[in-house]
Amino acid sequence: DVRLSRRLASVRPSATGAITDTARRMKAEGKPVISLSAGELDFDTPAHIQQAAIDGIQNGQTRYTNVGGTQQLKAAIARKFQRDNDLHYADAEIIASTGAKQILFNALLATIDAGDEAIMVAPYWVSYSEMVRIADGEPIVITPDATSGFKLTPDLLAQAITPNTRWLILNSPCNPSGSLYSADELRALAAVLRHHPRVLVMADDIYEEIVFDGEFASFAQAAPDMKDRTLTINGVSKAYAMTGWRLGYAGGPRWLIGALELLQSQSTSNPSSVTQVAAAAALDGPQEFLDTWRARLRVRRDLALGILADAAPLLTLQTPAAAFYLYADCSATLGMKTPQGAVISSDIDLATYLLEHGGVAVVPGTAFGLAPYIRLAYALSDTDLKAACEQIVAACKRLV
Ligand code: PLP
Repeated sequence: DVRLSRRLASVRPSATGAITDTARRMKAEGKPVISLSAGELDFDTPAHIQQAAIDGIQNGQTRYTNVGGTQQLKAAIARKFQRDNDLHYADAEIIASTGAKQILFNALLATIDAGDEAIMVAPYWVSYSEMVRIADGEPIVITPDATSGFKLTPDLLAQAITPNTRWLILNSPCNPSGSLYSADELRALAAVLRHHPRVLVMADDIYEEIVFDGEFASFAQAAPDMKDRTLTINGVSKAYAMTGWRLGYAGGPRWLIGALELLQSQSTSNPSSVTQVAAAAALDGPQEFLDTWRARLRVRRDLALGILADAAPLLTLQTPAAAFYLYADCSATLGMKTPQGAVISSDIDLATYLLEHGGVAVVPGTAFGLAPYIRLAYALSDTDLKAACEQIVAACKRLV
C-alpha cells in the first residue's frame, strides 16, 4: 500500500497555517478579514536592496554558488556578526541557507538521534517542536511564569537537563511573547550550561533588530566561553522585510557548520544566488532606516495595547519589549458564550470566533505550546490595526 513514513506521523500541521487558510477562504468569499496572523513586516524591501538584486540578475549572478553561500555574502555576514554582536566567525564557521528555518531544521537533523531531547521555552515558535519530532527527537517544553515575562530561569533550565539533552533552543527576542533576555540573564543560563558540556545552544536571533525596550545581546556574545557550542542563527527576513527572499545565516563551530553544509549540499544546495546578492546589500548597506521602522512599529504596538486595554479582563496583555507580536492571555473568556450560542472552551475556539464573527485573524496560543492565549502580529497599517483591535474588543464584549 502507498503510505507516508512513520517519521511524518508524529508531526502536527501548523496551526498558524490553518487560521491563515480560513482567513484566505473568507476573503475569497468576499468577507472582510484583517489578518493579525502573519509573522512578517508589511514594509517593502528597501529600494537599495531591490536594486542590488536587479543588478545581480543583470550581471549574471544567476548560477549555482558555493553551497554555503558566496564569498561576498559570507564576508558580509562576518562583518555583521563582528559589528553588531562582537562575534568573530571565520568563513568555515558561517553558512547561508534558504531561510533561518532551513538552518534550524538541518542543525536538528544533523545532531539528534532517536530519544535525544531539545529544550524549548513556551510559548515557542511553532516549528521548533515539530522539527525536533521530524528529527526523531523529543521536544522538552519548559513553561516559565508569565509574570517573569515568559523567560527561562537558571533553576528551570537546571531541572530540565537530562543525560539525553542535546540542545537548548533560545529565542530572544521571542516569537510570540516578545520577551527579550538581557546579557546578564543569558550569562545566568550559561552558568548552568557550564556543568553540561554536551548541551548545544541554538540562539535564534532572527528578531534582533526589532527591539523597543532594553538592549539585544546574542548568547555567545554574553557568554563568550559558550561560543564553541553555540549556533548563532539570524536572517534577513524580519530585519529587512525580506521574508519572501528566503535567506538565513548562522555562525557556529566548524564541525557543525560543516554538517549543515553537507546536508544542504545533498538537499537544496545554495540559497538563491540572486537573494544572496540582495542579502549582502542588506547587511552591508545603510542601517539607519531601521530606526524609522522601529519607531513606526512602536507606535503600532502602543496603539494596539491602548485599544485592547478595553477588552480587559477578557484579554490581558503585557507590554512586549521586542518583536512585533502581542501575546494576550484569554483565560477569562473560557466558558463564555458567543451570541451564536457556542461555548468558548479553548483559545482555538476564541480565535475561530474572532475570525468568523469579528473579521480578525489571530493565532491561538495552543500553536505556541502555551494556552489559553492569542497572538496578534501588529505589523500592518495603522488604519487596519486600529480597526482590527476595535473589532476584537467589540467581539469580546459580545461574549456572555
Ligand atoms: N525563527 C523564528 C522565531 C521565527 O519567527 C521565524 C519566522 O517566522 C523564523 C525563525 C524563520 O525565519 P526565516 O524566514 O529566515 O526562515
